Amino acid sequence: MLDFLKRESCFCCYCGDFATECDHVIPVSWYQRTLKRRRTSKRKDEVVLSCSSCNQIIKDNLICTLGTRAAFVAERLAIAHRKRLSSPHWDTSEMDELEVKILRKVSAMQMKKSLIINRIRHCNIIAKLEPSIEEFWESYEAKVSLVEYLTQIKTKIS
Ligand SMILES: [Zn+2]
Repeated sequence: MLDFLKRESCFCCYCGDFATECDHVIPVSWYQRTLKRRRTSKRKDEVVLSCSSCNQIIKDNLICTLGTRAAFVAERLAIAHRKRLSSPHWDTSEMDELEVKILRKVSAMQMKKSLIINRIRHCNIIAKLEPSIEEFWESYEAKVSLVEYLTQIKTKIS
């Protein structure tokens, strides 16, 4: 089923985290409702790879471009993690003064916060670059990240 994911590292089309799932750009449920037929194909022109979190966020919303899907994920991540994102930033000198137990907690919090920030940032870049499904797979074949690939193409054009 997940043939595309056999490779060691593939990245989520939206947030850049590790991909674990195929994301149907036209949701399977839409085909079932609209065309009244089962559709389980994983044609490369209909799917991209994503992490389970992004796939869960998009669910079966009919959002047909990768850029708008990424923008949708960014928005939802910001809402879901608003508490974490507004938590204070601790600098190293402040952290040096903390007890070990608290330091561990604060470090873990900071780490989670920066992971979310990075995922949102990646989504926003994808939203701006508006890649096509074809370009996603080209980057996959070239074994470079989608952002890196799109930046390379743009530099070649200009
Ligand atoms: Zn993701």
